[in-house]
Amino acid sequence: MILENLPLWITYVIGAIIFFLIWWPLAVIFLEICILSIILHMGLICPHCYHYGTNTCPSGYGMVSTKWFSPGRKQEFSVVFKRWIWVVFPGWILPPLGAGYLLVQDWKSIPVWVLLIAFCIVGFLILPIVSKQYGCKKCRNKSNCPWGPD
Ligand code: SF4
Repeated sequence: MILENLPLWITYVIGAIIFFLIWWPLAVIFLEICILSIILHMGLICPHCYHYGTNTCPSGYGMVSTKWFSPGRKQEFSVVFKRWIWVVFPGWILPPLGAGYLLVQDWKSIPVWVLLIAFCIVGFLILPIVSKQYGCKKCRNKSNCPWGPD
């Protein structure tokens, strides 16, 4: 579970550092948006998932979700996933935009380039590999996964 969540947490930390460099309250707002997007994911998507209420959810959201949200219809998972997956997009889109803003101010800033590249490597390379290797392998939603079966 830690392995599945770690890359996501790292992208949130890198994103927060990027926004801290712009103006520190933006880092707090960014982290609040990330937390909100996780809660929305748990409320809108997880109740329809086969891993809801089980300890087989790779990220652990499925267990936490049962504390706050009622179960949904499992056969609608694919439709619900496609409809609501955008709730996690801010965590992916905002940090590169923030880094872009900083690089417009000073395109030679090595720390900003390092943060941007680190964000892209962890978020767009390591995280999908970890998900495919661990989460997706054991997933019971495979047959109707919106990303397609393995
Ligand atoms: S596998 Fe994904 S959708 Fe299913 S309960 Fe876990 S986090 Fe939610």
